[in-house]
Amino acid sequence: MNKSLRKAVIAGNWKMNKTPAEAKELITAIAPLVKDAGCEVVACTPYVDLWAAQEAAKGTNIQIGAENCHWAKSGAFTGEISADMLASMDVNIVIIGHSERRQYFGETDVTVHDRTRAALDAGLTVILCVGETLEQREQGITSELVALQTKIALGGVSAEELKRVIIAYEPVWAIGTGKTATAEQANEVCHVIREVIAELYGKAAADGITIQYGGSMNAANAAELLAQPDVDGGLIGGASLKPQDFAAIVEAATKG
Ligand code: PEP
Repeated sequence: MNKSLRKAVIAGNWKMNKTPAEAKELITAIAPLVKDAGCEVVACTPYVDLWAAQEAAKGTNIQIGAENCHWAKSGAFTGEISADMLASMDVNIVIIGHSERRQYFGETDVTVHDRTRAALDAGLTVILCVGETLEQREQGITSELVALQTKIALGGVSAEELKRVIIAYEPVWAIGTGKTATAEQANEVCHVIREVIAELYGKAAADGITIQYGGSMNAANAAELLAQPDVDGGLIGGASLKPQDFAAIVEAATKG
């Protein structure tokens, strides 16, 4: 499979960090460091930071995204934000199904599907997160589990809509723990996901879809991970808050 057929995307997931003023500072610090990136650069921020981050990113190559959206268009869902609300702010990309949402906020494969559907209907690009826990890896069910998560999330998604889906393989045991999957482990599961896409949508779609790795990716390990044939980018948590480290990952993706 030819890696040059697809776009590399490095996306930061800021999680619940940064006030609007701090978001502006962080984007302003990152922008000059990534201006020559040979990959797409995204920063997914808390909702309250979106506007400040967008203002700071104006005229740069950084796209601002969100970290979640609700499945309903509107209604009695106190505290939630709809995909249409994001689209109305010119936010074009959203993370769905992050393992922290699954772990702490009752997100299931079905709600991940519903949120994916809503985001695609609103015209957004989705970064769809899948990945196994340590227990599931030790049980030897990683491939089946990740395949199932992918299939459920993408149920009813058309081949045309799939062009607005990026899949992030994020082993839960590697997120925020400092434990990174080896380059081989990351590639193996990204390859499984690509095979699932081939099964569902055909080879051309599988060759074209961007599949990221996420889980303690940092300036030191990014080059090896991003050089893998099935790893097309990264979803970056902790290191996305450090301009130099994030820029080093963007540079590795540019070479990767
Ligand atoms: C993430 O939040 O998606 C993530 C991969 O976090 P970290 O890079 O901190 O492991």
